[in-house]
Amino acid sequence: GEGRRTLIAGNWKMHMTHLEAIGLVQKLAFTVPELVLDTVDVVVLPPFTALRSVQTLVTGDKLAVGFGAQDLSAHDSGAYTGEVSGGMLAALACQYVTVGHSERRAMHAEDDAVVAAKARAALRHGVVPIVCVGEGLEIRQAGEHVAYCTTQLDASLEGLTAEQVASLVIAYEPVWAIGTGEVATPEDAQEVCGALRARLAERFSPETAASVRILYGGSVKAASTAGILAGPDIDGALVGGASLDADEFAQICRIAA
Ligand code: PEP
Repeated sequence: GEGRRTLIAGNWKMHMTHLEAIGLVQKLAFTVPELVLDTVDVVVLPPFTALRSVQTLVTGDKLAVGFGAQDLSAHDSGAYTGEVSGGMLAALACQYVTVGHSERRAMHAEDDAVVAAKARAALRHGVVPIVCVGEGLEIRQAGEHVAYCTTQLDASLEGLTAEQVASLVIAYEPVWAIGTGEVATPEDAQEVCGALRARLAERFSPETAASVRILYGGSVKAASTAGILAGPDIDGALVGGASLDADEFAQICRIAA
């Protein structure tokens, strides 16, 4: 809505060796119509080990698909064995990086303060953070999902300026919908995405809120795409499982165009 460009991002999670990634991106190159890429930002988020291979495929005018990483360190360099910095991602021409994915929050104990520090690290290097928030099943069942998600968003944006927030992407990903096949209803997705935008308007400004792209994520398939994207505050989708199938992902992108 409101002139924001639709973004469809494929979170590959821990799938695809760099060789498999080359195959999938090449397949996307002839399954996603060029016309779609004129109106929709199509982005893939491979594992770190495949980023360089994907970069060589999409750089130049070969394929107008964007790419990014699934995580980064909150630090810029130093004794952080196993970590990857924002500068390293920027050097690979990564445009996006997800921060605070529910799998990292749950399995790597990343709290909102860490997520905010990672978002700031990405912004220091010109990489757009896709800040993920979303409630678990118990919170949804208790009817506290809106308050939970707006609070989580507030804390996950700690220390960011309004100007930085304006360039962000936010992903609403209810934990109960991720990888479960249970997609949120369009109404449920819009309720939270609308509340997140209202919170941004209140905390920063209406103009800031209007420029932020808010995605829905959680079991999106081609069949559910149109309904989800109909929400006026939903500007795209973060797609997990279905992004590993070039035909399904291309179909989602076509429907989004
Ligand atoms: C995700 O992990 O970001 C996601 C939305 O996964 P899925 O589409 O598989 O539910």
